[in-house]
Amino acid sequence: MSVSTRTGNGTSLECSAPAMRLPPGIASVLSVLSSSAVVLDRQDRVLQASEAARSFGLVQGERLMASELLALARQVRRDGEIREGEFEVSAGGKIGGRMTSFAVRVAPLGGDVGCEGLVLVLAEDQTESRRVEEVRRDFVANVSHELKTPVGALALLAETVEDAADDPDAVRRFAGRMRQEASRLTNLVQDIITLSRIQAAEPVPDPVAVQVDAIVAEALDRCRMKANARGIALAEVGDHGLGVLGDEDLLLTAIRNLLENAVAYSPERTRVLVTTRRADDRVEISVEDQGIGIPERDLQRIFERFYRVDPARSRATGGTGLGLAIVKHVTAAHGGAVTVRSVEGAGSTFTLSLPLRSSHAGSGSA
Ligand code: ADP
Repeated sequence: MSVSTRTGNGTSLECSAPAMRLPPGIASVLSVLSSSAVVLDRQDRVLQASEAARSFGLVQGERLMASELLALARQVRRDGEIREGEFEVSAGGKIGGRMTSFAVRVAPLGGDVGCEGLVLVLAEDQTESRRVEEVRRDFVANVSHELKTPVGALALLAETVEDAADDPDAVRRFAGRMRQEASRLTNLVQDIITLSRIQAAEPVPDPVAVQVDAIVAEALDRCRMKANARGIALAEVGDHGLGVLGDEDLLLTAIRNLLENAVAYSPERTRVLVTTRRADDRVEISVEDQGIGIPERDLQRIFERFYRVDPARSRATGGTGLGLAIVKHVTAAHGGAVTVRSVEGAGSTFTLSLPLRSSHAGSGSA
């Protein structure tokens, strides 16, 4: 017989061994734990298991899957020592299924009358924290690699300047290149700081009212010099007076990154258009260029840190490879999303969609 008890918080515990029942109190304690919980009886049968333990494939019927875990439980029953460990189980107990990593803690439930020989297994799903840790490790490795390039170039240039001390023209030329590398380094460090700052603050803490017109105008101003230098016309159209809630600096950075890319990846004498419009309860800000476009196969990856379609071109334009990762995190931190449409050789349109600041909060929306 199998009895299912659903508790107040929606966690379900199943009592499946007819021979023994769990002492009152223990079942209710287990039901509020966030970890997968399993209680084994003296014959290693599953006396009780949380829904999570079953759906993760830790338990099937009356059996605890994963022989290492069972061995651990037996040791605990023998000597009464609490043990911890880590191991993997395939999803749903299927061979070849997705593996889930668990941190487990196994303890005897003995002591109270009725609990002799019972063993409690608590398993915490580590998959997400492992993934986050992996992403962090990759990021640190990538950052180190990216920093090496300008730092190495600076060291080489400094040596060359020393060697050319008697040639003022050469010194001037190499000093100019040193300035370029130093500025690449500054941009990289700045982008890393911005990215860490947003990731530590998702969603944006203490959001304030931000006027979309103002940040679009400011972003256009900051890109104008680079655009003028390449004969690229910047234009702006759409609805005015729209507001969003958020962090003005971060939103400005996101729009500016899109504009800088639009200019950097466009041929001379083209135009870049910023369109702002209200779509129901959202504000859409699009940046459209007539540039080189992005191949279909790269569209999904360009928002990853340090992903570049053409690394040489990105380097030539002074790109850090972090611009779009910043855009993605900034929009997510504002409850929004960023999308891209692109045709190789014809141009790209990046669109930020952000929640509109409601008019009762004084947005003055159009
Ligand atoms: P980067 O500093 O290299 O520009 P980003 O994260 O801003 O890094 O962009 C990632 C890559 O996406 C770029 O290297 C480039 O290949 C591509 N990309 C971004 N914006 C555009 C655009 N407007 N047109 C064409 N390619 C673009």
